[in-house]
Amino acid sequence: MSFKDLQLNKPILKAIAEAGYDTPTLVQEKTIPFVLDKKDVIVSAQTGTGKTAAFAIPILRLLFDKQDTPIKGKKIKALIVSPTRELAIQIEQHFKTLSTYTNLRTTVVFGGTSIEPQKDILKKGIDILVATPGRLLDLHKQDIINLDYIETLVLDEADLMLDMGFIDAIKKIERLCPDNKQTLLFSATIPYKVEQLANTLLKTPKRIEVAPNSSTSKNITQLLYYVPKRNKIELCLHLLRNTIKGNIIIFRRTKFGVDKLEKTLIKNGYRVDSIHGNKSQSARQEALNNFKKNQINILIATDVAARGIDIKALDAVINFDLPNIPETYVHRIGRTARAGKHGVAYSFCSADEKNYVQSIQRLIQLQLDIIEEHPYPLDPKAKKEVHKSPNKSKYKKGRKSAASKKKKKRWY
Ligand code: AMP
Repeated sequence: MSFKDLQLNKPILKAIAEAGYDTPTLVQEKTIPFVLDKKDVIVSAQTGTGKTAAFAIPILRLLFDKQDTPIKGKKIKALIVSPTRELAIQIEQHFKTLSTYTNLRTTVVFGGTSIEPQKDILKKGIDILVATPGRLLDLHKQDIINLDYIETLVLDEADLMLDMGFIDAIKKIERLCPDNKQTLLFSATIPYKVEQLANTLLKTPKRIEVAPNSSTSKNITQLLYYVPKRNKIELCLHLLRNTIKGNIIIFRRTKFGVDKLEKTLIKNGYRVDSIHGNKSQSARQEALNNFKKNQINILIATDVAARGIDIKALDAVINFDLPNIPETYVHRIGRTARAGKHGVAYSFCSADEKNYVQSIQRLIQLQLDIIEEHPYPLDPKAKKEVHKSPNKSKYKKGRKSAASKKKKKRWY
């Protein structure tokens, strides 16, 4: 199929060609006709599949016929809600690229930066708004944003939005839009809670699934290193010195872990930067730009900070800490081996993470290749390392209730 078969028009086709897209990706081929037909859709697709253009292209086509309202009179007609600032910026860039030959105007608003410049742009009149939930509601409360004219609402990365606790915000945003709008829900995975959300928000949606949830590319070599927790940094340095070359992302579970590893790698002369939730928006953006421009070749990240970010030509992913949610492993390693390239995923597993390996392997239906030949092997009988604090009173042990122990801690 070609883009010409998708009932688009010349200005949009020209921008698509200039963006370097020759043929539609699978998710675009399946999604674009339904969106043009004003249907609600629920799409299960991960970053890297071309899903952003799968909603951006038809939204621009639908709005094209209304593009010539004078700027002052412009009302927001399409709203894209995205969980993170980085993703929101990326989506805005897609819209801007694809709308080059139209008069449609897009802007992005997100928290963590000054609200005033965002207000000024909004007051000038725009057609398409990309927003993170908190800042969107804030601006709505201040009467800067009017959602009464929304024709298409996109909820991107719905599973992540729910993980981040945005459920009430999403429901509120949806209620602020007109009843007769079209709603498009995109999610890397469709767990039960996303299904439930879709049931309450979408009207007889068309379902599109481009890849099974657990798919991992055949082009990724997946290696597993059993290693004591305290030796993970040494193993990482050993592999960086001897084995892993090129552009690398290292995932850690906590912000603290990211900072600690970054310091060590910098001390050892590596060109490194990092992204996590405690960093300012501009620092995160700068790190990403430096990585894209090859000024650094190692990026250390927490999962949420890195989610959805489009980074091309990644040679390796290191799972310094294994994720406790197996789908996260699939997201992480899916960042390498894009577009038919080959990539390697290195996973470090300490004694307390062995269970995670089991659930990952169950999900991907594959055994990871265990590398035994390395300088820091883990004793196969090793138990979880317990850090005993000498001052701790024995009476403090077990003070947490069973319910609170069960509660999983967020790390973002
Ligand atoms: P996404 O899944 O939306 O994050 O897109 C992943 C990458 O694929 C982005 O860099 C897009 O610019 C690129 N892309 C999107 N659609 C196409 C296409 N039809 N052909 C080639 N590249 C594309």
